Amino acid sequence: MPPFQLVQDPGALALFLDVDGTLIDFAATPEAARAPADLPAILQAASSRTAGALALISGRSIAELDRLMAPLQLPAAGLHGAEFRFTEAALPSTAASLPPQFVQKLAAETARFPGARFEDKGASVAIHFRAAPSLAAELHELLLRYLARAGTPPLELMVGELVYELKPPGFDKGTAIRAFMQHTPFTGRTPIFVADHVIDQAGFDTASSLGGYGLSVGSKLPGAIDFFPDTASVRAWLKGLA
Ligand SMILES: [Mg+2]
Repeated sequence: MPPFQLVQDPGALALFLDVDGTLIDFAATPEAARAPADLPAILQAASSRTAGALALISGRSIAELDRLMAPLQLPAAGLHGAEFRFTEAALPSTAASLPPQFVQKLAAETARFPGARFEDKGASVAIHFRAAPSLAAELHELLLRYLARAGTPPLELMVGELVYELKPPGFDKGTAIRAFMQHTPFTGRTPIFVADHVIDQAGFDTASSLGGYGLSVGSKLPGAIDFFPDTASVRAWLKGLA
């Protein structure tokens, strides 16, 4: 059962869905994460129910989202809003990559920490430490030192679920939702953002400022009005909408 009552007709909603920790469970590495076999069909049905007003809002690249949800290609914002695809199967717009020299140096420094995994996402970089959670403080210090260094491009540090990300400032999951809400078929609908981490708060806040609301996963997070206990209950809720 969903933890709350929807007051709107599901057909009048715009659904914005985080992916990792929301629609699918975390795995040891981002590459190892798999979508449950029925997820593409559930998303397809929920998308039809909202006349296509369903978008994935993720820290992953759109290419990665397509791989996870194959054969589905949904509207999506990737890399926390650096990449967009406004309509199904359109070509994604991508953001400029970070300077290669900066990326290579940080990758080499990260390699000195066994258990930390460096991911070059193009417009952003991520350092995952799911395999070595005890590295949290040391890696955080490394990144802060790095950001303070002369010659580092202007970047923002984001603290995710056993991951740090450096991305250019000026966009987040909130700006992504706002951008979708200016496009058909999202415009004029009630936005709902479902996500699992404090990193997603800009998205919750944006959804409520646009007359909708945020729903978190795992626990009730700041900015969310209610929460789902786990990813399975999010999938069951989406199934119920359709
Ligand atoms: Mg997430």
